[in-house]
This record gives sequence, C-alpha cells and structure tokens, in this order.
Amino acid sequence: MEFQERFGSEEACREYLFACRWPEGFRCRRCGGGEVGGLQRARAVWQCKACGAQTSVTAGTVMHKTHMPLRVWFWAAYLVATHHPGISAVQLQRQLGIGTHETAWMMLHKLRRAMVAPEREPLKREVEVDECYVGGVEEGLHGGRQHGEKALVAVAIEVRGRGSGRLRLQVISDVSAGSLQPFVTTTTEPGAIVRTDGWPSYKGLAKLGYDHRPRVQRTAPVGEQLLPRAHRAISNLKAWLYGTHRWASHEHLPVYLDEFVFRHNRRGNPHAAFQTLLGLSTHHQPSTYREIIDHAA
Ligand SMILES: [Zn+2]
Repeated sequence: MEFQERFGSEEACREYLFACRWPEGFRCRRCGGGEVGGLQRARAVWQCKACGAQTSVTAGTVMHKTHMPLRVWFWAAYLVATHHPGISAVQLQRQLGIGTHETAWMMLHKLRRAMVAPEREPLKREVEVDECYVGGVEEGLHGGRQHGEKALVAVAIEVRGRGSGRLRLQVISDVSAGSLQPFVTTTTEPGAIVRTDGWPSYKGLAKLGYDHRPRVQRTAPVGEQLLPRAHRAISNLKAWLYGTHRWASHEHLPVYLDEFVFRHNRRGNPHAAFQTLLGLSTHHQPSTYREIIDHAA
C-alpha cells in the first residue's frame, strides 16, 4: 500500500528517476551546465538550458523506450523484488492488470535479465565449493558423479561466521579439473580459503593461489556435515526450482540460477533488489526484444 501510494503517479516515478540520476541536482552530460530549460516532463526528458542537450531519465534502464507507464514498471519491479518464491508472468499480468500475457512475459524477462549483475565482486576470505545435479524427477544417482538427464551446477558460497555470505552458481559441463578450477578462479578471489570435498579435480587449487582445504567424509566427526553452507544453498535451490518453476529445462537453467543468486545475495535488502531490477544502480544496457528471445524464449 505504501509503495503504491508513493509511486502512484507518473510524476512521482519521474521524480524518483531524476533523483537516482542526479542525486545532487541536474547536470548536463554534454556541457556540464546545471540549469534546466524546456523540460518535457511527459517524456521524462530534461533539456540543458545552455546547450540544449536532452537527457532521458529512463536511458539505460529497462523502462527506456517502452510504452508501458513508469508506475506499472515500478510496481512490477517491486513485485518481482519482494515476491519471495519468484513470480510468474501469469501472476504479474493479473497483479498489474495488463491486457496481454505477452506484455507481462516481456516485462518479467526484462526484469530477470537485470538479475545478472555485470560487475560482480569476487567472493572473498573463505568459500565453500561443491557441485550438484539439478533437473529430472529423482535425486542423485546413488551419490555418484555420472552425468544423467540432469544438469550439473557448480556452487560457491562465502562463509560468514556460522551463516552464509554471497553465492555463485554456474552450469558446468562435467566435474573435471578443466571445469571446476576455472569456476573457482572466476568466482573467488585468489588467496581465499577454499573448502571442498576430496574430489581429485580440486587438486591444484593451491597452485592457483588459493588456501585449499579439502576434506573427506571419513575424517570428519560423526554427524558433522562437510560444506554445510553449500549443502544448504543446494537444497534451497532445488526446493525453489521445483517449487516455483516445476521443471527448468537445461536451456533456461542459467537464467533461473541467476535469479536464485540474485535473490540469495539481496535477501533482506528489497530496495537494492528493486533498484537493480529497474536498471537504476548499474550501468547495465537494457535488453532488447531480440536479446530476450535469443536468451530465454
Ligand atoms: Zn548542456
């Protein structure tokens, strides 16, 4: 209710976008002038009084050059950011009172594309790394590492005291050193403590500059779980995938993994989630229809 009242008009949404773009007041991107002349509020375009350069407050956001009112975008981003299990296009269409399913689907996918943060800070200090299989109807193949109908996902998660910090997930083709070690080097800062099980493919992480601490089950005290944070993340991921998306095809899986990571890493911070979804807090280029279709249709 509070959100809808705050952003109940196009004017209120434009003011917010203006404040996000120019927190210290209008500044012309061409000449640096600070005076506004002939602004076209209806188009959310501000014009520099000195040189006439125009700047749209929606440029670089998911809302740019769409016909959907800003308040509908705001409400959609709010719903996606705060709806915990994830929201479907059908639910979004209903909630927003949008006429066509295609429009709701398109908005949802544009917002989802924003869930891939382009400038990802590497995981730091202490990280648990593991892999799991997702997809299919049944759980693991006798605990083995054979590749069945399932997709293989690598997991890296920060240790923060007894809890978990940030998470990274990535689809990998196999459990060879050639797949697992690049996953570690692209997600985790060199020098970090990396905890894994005793799988041989992880050997060599020390040579890559990590404080590698492998552990095998038989050396652990009875009842103590190896890599408890990674295992918790994996079981939450599976519950979410099967509960919300029923079945994620291999083709769409990376998009869903990004969404899960996005939600995990911003849990407890819906405002950051909202801003990122709309494209306000990153320099993310808005995705075009073609990109969305190629990526996720
Ligand atoms: Zn100017």
